[in-house]
Amino acid sequence: MEIYCDNAATTPLDPEVIETILPFLIQNFGNPSSTHWAGRRVKEVVNQARKSVAKLLNASPDEIFFTSGATEAINLAISGAIAAYDIDHVITSRIEHKAVLQTILQQEKKGGIKTSFVKLDERGNADLHDLENLLRANPRTLICLMHGNNEIGNLTYVRAVSSLARDFDAIFFTDTTQTIGKQQLDLGETHIDLLAGSAHKFHGPKGAGFIYINKKHTIPAQIFGGGQEHGQRGGTEHVSGIAGLAKALEVACRDMAVNHEKVSALKQYLIRKLAICGVDGIGYNGESSSPERSLANILSVSFPCPATGSLVKSLDQLGIAVSGGSACSSQGSSHVISALPHQPDKEHVRFSFSKFNTFDEVDHIVQAIAGIYRANPVQKTNQSRFHFELTH
Ligand code: PLP
Repeated sequence: MEIYCDNAATTPLDPEVIETILPFLIQNFGNPSSTHWAGRRVKEVVNQARKSVAKLLNASPDEIFFTSGATEAINLAISGAIAAYDIDHVITSRIEHKAVLQTILQQEKKGGIKTSFVKLDERGNADLHDLENLLRANPRTLICLMHGNNEIGNLTYVRAVSSLARDFDAIFFTDTTQTIGKQQLDLGETHIDLLAGSAHKFHGPKGAGFIYINKKHTIPAQIFGGGQEHGQRGGTEHVSGIAGLAKALEVACRDMAVNHEKVSALKQYLIRKLAICGVDGIGYNGESSSPERSLANILSVSFPCPATGSLVKSLDQLGIAVSGGSACSSQGSSHVISALPHQPDKEHVRFSFSKFNTFDEVDHIVQAIAGIYRANPVQKTNQSRFHFELTH
């Protein structure tokens, strides 16, 4: 039996999305820049997709630009805002995705910007008083704070951050890769300047994402070419990906309440089952066990280290796919877990659900965990042998 419980890494395609995409892989293969019938047919699809995404976010179509995914959108947002506004100060946090942290680091290496990391409390929440003090001390600031954390699920109070950004005339970029289609976000009501999203996190195709650029901003392109995406991003449009992204977002927004209820119930069921599975010393990272303060689909659990092997690897051998951190960074320790109070003798496992998971699967996962600990009782030393292996 194979169980996929790593939906923060990526999600399977929704059947409605597959149906939408297929014609663009077969008969509707035209290039949107071509002026003949084949091009016109798909150009209209890209236009419709842009309108649809904009409407779902309460934005306007000329504020949405399609990219190859969130990483590209993040690079464009951060580098573009710094260049356009001569920004010399960036505020971010130690638990942002590497796409954000690395882009800021590259900008820092080029010279001209200084980075401040907002204080985090012991559960990984940004301290908004500290953010305010940082903003007061630094005009011309870009704030980069994610909406929902991909490892521990913490949600940021984007509305509060956006109000501070407005009060201090700062630019606010938020990485919504884990929250788009899962959390309500009304761009007409929230002062967000720039935002990034990615289709494969909400049952759309990989290699398709978008950036929202509030229409009061003009930021320079990073990829130059034939003037596609209104000159914001050169390159022939990934038509099937764009059509799939728009459909996936439509389905995710349409079913948001039902999906939220389902994955919340699965997560709470997993918490209840772990409490009685016979393994002592299980804890939860960040806000991940809080129904209000975390993404409904992500549960980050700290387990005592089994005497041999790693839990994630043992679960994989049993056909259960979970993650030891973010599946988006290929090696190294989890910078997110490291930013939280240190737990040296723990193995950290991220379970992330989608609408396709079932309660039976949770039962199976917990039975597997109990079996692994029965066969490998808890390691007695205080040294973690797994902490540095787990993020991939
Ligand atoms: N930001 C967050 C929070 C993510 O979880 C991910 C992917 O895991 C990314 C950015 C990068 O997204 P993409 O795979 O679309 O480049």
